[in-house]
Amino acid sequence: MKTIYNFSAGPAVLPKSVLEKAQSELVNYENSGMSVMELSHRSSLFDKIIQDAEALLRELMNIPDNYKVLFLQGGASLQFTMVPLNLAQHKKALYVNTGSWSKKAISEAQKLDNVTVEVIASSEDQNFTYIPEIHKEDIPQDAAYVHITTNNTIEGTTIYDLPDTGDVPLVADMSSNILSVNYNVADFGLIYAGAQKNIGPAGLTVVIVREDLIGQSDILSAMLDYEIQAKNGSMYNTPPTFSIYMAKLVFEWIKEQGGVSQMEKQNKAKAALLYDEIDTSQLFSSPVNKKDRSINNIPFVTGDDALDKKFNQEALAAGFENLKGHRSVGGMRASLYNAFPEAGVEALVALMKTFEAENKGAK
Ligand SMILES: *Cc1c(COP(=O)(O)O)cnc(C)c1O
Repeated sequence: MKTIYNFSAGPAVLPKSVLEKAQSELVNYENSGMSVMELSHRSSLFDKIIQDAEALLRELMNIPDNYKVLFLQGGASLQFTMVPLNLAQHKKALYVNTGSWSKKAISEAQKLDNVTVEVIASSEDQNFTYIPEIHKEDIPQDAAYVHITTNNTIEGTTIYDLPDTGDVPLVADMSSNILSVNYNVADFGLIYAGAQKNIGPAGLTVVIVREDLIGQSDILSAMLDYEIQAKNGSMYNTPPTFSIYMAKLVFEWIKEQGGVSQMEKQNKAKAALLYDEIDTSQLFSSPVNKKDRSINNIPFVTGDDALDKKFNQEALAAGFENLKGHRSVGGMRASLYNAFPEAGVEALVALMKTFEAENKGAK
């Protein structure tokens, strides 16, 4: 098999050992004669998988007992609607607008007639290249929540210092840095994440929610109701069984690696390699405010569309997959999630150096 490096923002690279374990168990799980894909979600074999997945996630993130862990479907995008439906009917919902995903969260909440949406801080004035300041005075204490996006996958910024929201619960879209940067779950009322970036395959959404925040809404469709999902152990209907199994294997892998702190340390080291190159290069630069830079998604540009295109073509030919930047930012974007190997960053830096030497003066 040829060596490639997958820089995809999601679905993203998974640990090879996890894929191999899944392969070895694929057609005959625990001597059942069946694949995990063929197991009843009510079977004891699957029950053990989902229980283990939850226990491992609780351990990795140090999730307090008064939080529910839900394994849902619909992606992070469905949470843009479920969060306000469950938490903010007849109330005010506050949002921090730090990028394309925040904007979508805001616009979905605005569609709900009985939710009053207020944007309390935004970095849209500078194309979301920085994290805006969030002032406590701007947070009415009767609001249902303050919604933030901890890592802005497209723009490459991260909220490292959480805002002081007083008694108002903090809600976080953590899709692209859950289990990669160490956050304290108790600082949040609710955390959600689509699995396909740092957790496992697509089709699974993880929601971690403080118990007192659920069950306060008007009548909801069962599938959209956190309370019903929690009461049914995420099995009101058939859950995404195989994705949950894969997530469990990834959680085990993270634990073996030394947990989230160790992941964060490795991710910082990987990101530093690339940022060092970007900062010393005469050709490449980062569009992002230095102190707000993400260690998970790193956009960079040459400032010249033709050169960006040439670099992307050469990178692809050299086995660097999915390095092309998001269409709204252009250039390149390296997504360096937990499973992305350091050797891949070293190879990218080497390619950048060669490219710069060959294209000096072309700009
Ligand atoms: C990818 C992403 C989403 C969308 O996730 P889906 O699971 O595809 O709905 C939302 N928010 C952030 C921060 C993301 O990175």
